[in-house]
Amino acid sequence: MSMSFGSNRIRAVLASLAFTICGLNSAEASDKPVAELPSASRNAALDAPLSAAGFEVAVTVDDLPLQGEPIQGSSRLSIARAFLAELKSRRVPEVMGFINAGAPADLGETDAVLRAWRRAGYPLGNHTLTHLSLSDARSFDDWKANVEGNEQYLIRYMGSKGWRYMRLPNLTTGRSKERHDSAVDYLDARRYRLAEVSVSFGDWAYVEAYKRCTMQRDEAGIAALEATYFDQVDRGLLRMKLLSQLLYSRQIRQVLVMHLSAWSVRTLPGVLSRIEAAGGRYITLARALDDPAYREPAAERGKGLLLERVATRRNMPLPGQVLNRPDLAVAGVCRNSSRAGNIP
Ligand SMILES: [Zn+2]
Repeated sequence: MSMSFGSNRIRAVLASLAFTICGLNSAEASDKPVAELPSASRNAALDAPLSAAGFEVAVTVDDLPLQGEPIQGSSRLSIARAFLAELKSRRVPEVMGFINAGAPADLGETDAVLRAWRRAGYPLGNHTLTHLSLSDARSFDDWKANVEGNEQYLIRYMGSKGWRYMRLPNLTTGRSKERHDSAVDYLDARRYRLAEVSVSFGDWAYVEAYKRCTMQRDEAGIAALEATYFDQVDRGLLRMKLLSQLLYSRQIRQVLVMHLSAWSVRTLPGVLSRIEAAGGRYITLARALDDPAYREPAAERGKGLLLERVATRRNMPLPGQVLNRPDLAVAGVCRNSSRAGNIP
């Protein structure tokens, strides 16, 4: 499907987003410039339909049994249980958890987390045994072994069906075209469905800073992290809708990636409330991936976030105001226990 957009149309929609996000706070947290805007950009008529546009979204969760370490007073299992309870209370269907069964964790606890996920009625998918990315793997054979080493656990918890979904670690396909193409061919031959991602709020980047803040009992630092994160969620939802409208002339079915962590369990209620307030309706991953938007050319499949990838391919200016390195933005928070954390 080919779409063409006049530059006036693009500028008008970019302007509508800029107008909307101007209403949000902490613009200083951004490290990406907003596209240059025409002076008469404040067009509320354009802004309103985009904010009100409903959308479907599949919630997916990476790095089971846990990204990072549990914080004091919690365990991998207690975090997973609280996360699952929140998802169930919001009636989020079939949340696929992507597992690293060989992650450095207590084996009994890993087992308990994966069992809890299944008891909640949610499926599991492959994220490689030890979170080995195609960029980090020394050889393609090493990577294949890491994929296949995870499968015995998927079979243990899922049986023979329903787990052949691959979420690539770090959403990377390696540094060479050869490795990308080998991986795509291999996953096709092994009957995996590539679990593409269209939207992320960068939750992974807050885990270490949150751990520091909790160890220092720095409530101001935690509040600063939350303010930045929820602001990024709001901006990310608007950006997602804008890119979808520009690239596909409609709201495509979205796939959101989150990571199971002490940070994500703390912020999950706020994230889900924002998704719902923005018009999000939860769907399964299979339904999302059936959207024609995910039928990408073979040479492009799996490369980073879908919407950013397609926008870049079409030389479309990416709307600003989301952090492209959230890890750097929060790196200074709670570094010094004598000082309240501030987002640099
Ligand atoms: Zn991961």
